[in-house]
Amino acid sequence: MTTDAAFDIVRRTLANGRLPHAYLLRGDPRGAAAELAARVASLLLCERRAADPAAAPCGACKSCRAVANGTHPDVVAVEPEKKSRVISIDAIRETFLPWASKLSYLGGWKVGEIFFADRLNDSSANAILKTLEEPPPDTLFLLATDRPGDLLPTIVSRCHRLDLSTGREAPAEPWRSRVGEILAKHSNASALRVAATAARLAALFDEIKGVAESQVSEKLAARRDADPAAALVDADAEKALVSVREKELRGAVYAALEDWYRDVLVLAALRESGAAPGGPGAPDLRFPERRAELEARAARTPARLAARYVEFAGKIREQIEARFIAPPVVFRHWLAWMR
Ligand SMILES: [Zn+2]
Repeated sequence: MTTDAAFDIVRRTLANGRLPHAYLLRGDPRGAAAELAARVASLLLCERRAADPAAAPCGACKSCRAVANGTHPDVVAVEPEKKSRVISIDAIRETFLPWASKLSYLGGWKVGEIFFADRLNDSSANAILKTLEEPPPDTLFLLATDRPGDLLPTIVSRCHRLDLSTGREAPAEPWRSRVGEILAKHSNASALRVAATAARLAALFDEIKGVAESQVSEKLAARRDADPAAALVDADAEKALVSVREKELRGAVYAALEDWYRDVLVLAALRESGAAPGGPGAPDLRFPERRAELEARAARTPARLAARYVEFAGKIREQIEARFIAPPVVFRHWLAWMR
């Protein structure tokens, strides 16, 4: 979604008094996700909000200016150290946790921001997790990352997720639902069933080829209609455009494959941590409509195995896109391991 759409969700949730304790902002931590974090912090802290919620953030009051300058005492931001490129336990212990445990300076909200949250190492992630499990009052945590798959599933499960679009992504639908449909039927109990799943997934790629061809030729036709004098695109150039579009659309299939196993991982980790399903911190699934099927898989898949499957999904992408191995072969190989 766009930054505006994500911001509207936060604004409405705040107005209803249902703001969660933490958001996971999926997007560029130096770009869209940072912009959204700053807008949300201004919204919560703006001095005009009490009198006129619709006017916040005004961008002009002392609080809004302090947020913009990075000097507001009720906002703390941590990010990876330049040298090690990780968010160390020291940064968390010395800056973040003491700040989280203190009351707000100005008597309102506090906003704790973690940029590049995927770079938390195990000990810093666990320290943050404790705070997310027992969040201090009137405190909102914003975790920004463009690699949510690298976060501990227990952290992901404590956050409401806001996915910001990069503007270049392929449309997820209908490919996402189709992948969900295929994987819901998948079983690696026999070679025959593995081959069946592999064939269905590979068939999506054939379909994608057709869709890419018609999308490109429609686009070129529209361009010729708009400007008959425009240079004709020769067959080779058209082929290249189709292949770029195909690759984008295949990206939606890989993303859905990774998301599916990430959902299994989140549910398996939650079950292993003993949390009540549906309780506070209910996970934000990428395939909420297939929750029952995912739960059934998670019930017989240890989280550490599910984590491997997410990795395998990444390998499938790499072998097809970078090593040009035939999709049915790649799917058959990896799906034999993946439940
Ligand atoms: Zn303001």
